[in-house]
Amino acid sequence: MLADNAGTFRLFRVFGVTVYLHWSWLAVAYIQYLFLRDAHLLEHFALYGSLFGIVLLHEFGHALACRSVGGRAEKIILWPLGGIAFVQPPRRPGAVLWSIAAGPLVNLVLVPVTVGLVVGAAVMLGDALPALQDYLYWLTAINAILLAFNMLPIYPLDGGQIVQALLWFFVGYTRSLLWSAWFGLICAVLLGVSMLWIAVSQASEQAAWLVVMALFVGWQSWRGIVIARTLAQYEQQWGQSV
Ligand SMILES: [Zn+2]
Repeated sequence: MLADNAGTFRLFRVFGVTVYLHWSWLAVAYIQYLFLRDAHLLEHFALYGSLFGIVLLHEFGHALACRSVGGRAEKIILWPLGGIAFVQPPRRPGAVLWSIAAGPLVNLVLVPVTVGLVVGAAVMLGDALPALQDYLYWLTAINAILLAFNMLPIYPLDGGQIVQALLWFFVGYTRSLLWSAWFGLICAVLLGVSMLWIAVSQASEQAAWLVVMALFVGWQSWRGIVIARTLAQYEQQWGQSV
């Protein structure tokens, strides 16, 4: 899924990277709109747009870091579970590690920036413009949550891919992928089953979203396991490390 540009439309191109939006992003935005039709609609839209901006900066972190080590990165697709930067770093653990780590690093840099905005606004504005101060507070929270979520050491999240790249230094690519992907699959099954139970028993929309996330993690992990097994067979057959 999302391997090609099917179901997407081109937004813009900057630094040689073209940004596409998947149609499902608009569908989810519309569903959110139906749920959130209240007095704070403008704030919700501002936050949803800012979430989009923070995710985009994160993906550009991946893409530009990949370029800096001689890899290819020409495309970013935004979809409801975030963004995907299509990066092809050189097949070296150090180059891959930098390309993956640069995404969360952008969020890390944004932590003092957003906290500074919250504190600065509180000092300068006092009790004035509470909507703006609320917005800055939520912007800070969204960035921090994205950072924490992305750094979970679960493949294929950034944290999981960082662990895989670190393992690569010691046990080779194939085993690093196999171990990381198995861990990802186990986590996905545990998360998926428990969240499905909560989603059904408590009719929780958040839990339903986490089920979708678990399906994505599980599916990507399964693909990782299949690739690692194929590579292992190849290595056995030809007696060389791939
Ligand atoms: Zn990332």
